[in-house]
Amino acid sequence: MNKPEITTDLERAAARLKDGGVVAFPTETVYGLGAVATEREAVEAVFQLKGRPADNPLIVHLSDISWLDQVADDVPEEARHLFAAFAPGPLTLVLKKKMNVPDVVTASLSTVAVRIPDHEVARDLIRLTGKPLVAPSANISGKPSPTTAEHVQYDFAGRDLLIVDGGACRVGVESTVLDLTVSPPVILRPGVITAEDIKEKTGIVVEASETEEARPKSPGQKYRHYSPQATVITVLPDQSFDEVVSTLSVDDLSSIGVFADEETLGSIKTGGLMAYSYGTSSSVDQAAKSLYAAFRYFDEHRVHFILAPLFREEGAGIAYNDRLRRAAHQVRRVLFVCTGNTCRSPMAEGLFNAAAPAGWLASSAGIYAYGGDTAAANAVAVMRRRGIEIGAHRSVPVTWDLLKQQTLIVPLTKEHAAALLDFDPSLKDKVRPLSAFAPDGKDIGDPFGQTIERYEQSAEAIEAAVDVLLAKITSGFFDNTQSDETIDDNEGP
Ligand code: AMP
Ligand code: MG
Repeated sequence: MNKPEITTDLERAAARLKDGGVVAFPTETVYGLGAVATEREAVEAVFQLKGRPADNPLIVHLSDISWLDQVADDVPEEARHLFAAFAPGPLTLVLKKKMNVPDVVTASLSTVAVRIPDHEVARDLIRLTGKPLVAPSANISGKPSPTTAEHVQYDFAGRDLLIVDGGACRVGVESTVLDLTVSPPVILRPGVITAEDIKEKTGIVVEASETEEARPKSPGQKYRHYSPQATVITVLPDQSFDEVVSTLSVDDLSSIGVFADEETLGSIKTGGLMAYSYGTSSSVDQAAKSLYAAFRYFDEHRVHFILAPLFREEGAGIAYNDRLRRAAHQVRRVLFVCTGNTCRSPMAEGLFNAAAPAGWLASSAGIYAYGGDTAAANAVAVMRRRGIEIGAHRSVPVTWDLLKQQTLIVPLTKEHAAALLDFDPSLKDKVRPLSAFAPDGKDIGDPFGQTIERYEQSAEAIEAAVDVLLAKITSGFFDNTQSDETIDDNEGP
């Protein structure tokens, strides 16, 4: 198969663009598939090449602020202020569109997304071309975005495409998209420039929608981008990789890929895993830079699972976590919740994982858990009778980050359910107390500190309810929970 050509000749690339052609080029975020924004046919060719749905609008890239009025109308002062502070850089502004921007660029919206990339090669190429360029990520839709010229070459093997090489992208995740046509402005897509950064540098207060559901509809955001073939499993800051690996119960450990820093990789006790290091020690910026490259690496090596850490929900962690969660969405998680996370919920977790269908994974947490406590000896013992090992369990407190991860949250009693809904009423659709699945409809009482017989009774009651829950899952009862979250795969190749 012939390969797309990689070049550093900008004159040649610009000539091709001026001719109505498509050229891939680097930006600081990811590689883009460029075409002159005002050339309808060239833009159509970009959609074609990527296999991108027509309702997913493109970002128009400029070489400097002075070009803004070429594509946007009634540009508000705020936009100039924001670009003065952040351009060139990974901030995209949604503004009122000018007539000369073809509908195909904006998916027929009356608005246009604009940014000025912070990469010399990108800006030089735009300047040489003399026209604004669209540049959606230069991957086949549904694949992780490319962060090197070789990634682009891999995706478009056999196609006639010129790729400008500018090395590995510095940022690695797509730009922040900020809608300035609403008041207050809203972040439609998180990037490494956060609402806090914007407030700090410009005094402009913008809304950062924290949940996917609350995020106002941004066309294209409904698509599950950034997905590797392997099942991506997120590892929480207080979880160990060894612990997550042990829940997977796979025979061939080389089918598990771990994305982490060298220090963390060195501390993993399980041998034989595939590893991808993003740097010497924990750093969210480094992790963001390498995430997509790691996805591609692991896919090439055909691992079945990719384990990657979540970071704290701040700074670049917001964008990184967003991309990782999107990729991990295909794993449906169940969280069992009790009080201390040492008796009932670890048993439920063990019972669930021992019989769970592919793609489902349980964990557990406690509303009043300290964190780090082992499961009660009697809980470990009654599970061992069933051939289930929960000796490596360590208690975890319920956190907002953890709740956000879940497809389904199963409190051990109605009281726990009420406490969670009190904490966050928007969890309503995800929370089902275990009693909802219990044949006798009853809550599971707390055996803490009691005899092994009481533990055995609790274990039997949990087991009966978990069996019903698993049967419902197997019969597809919760499949809608997924489609509700607007996971739409039709962008895929
Ligand atoms: P990509 O080029 O792949 O980074 O995707 C660009 C993304 O920017 C789209 O998926 C939208 O989420 C967003 N976007 C582009 N144009 C608009 C617009 N006019 N209004 C709202 N969001 C937009
Ligand atoms: Mg993209």
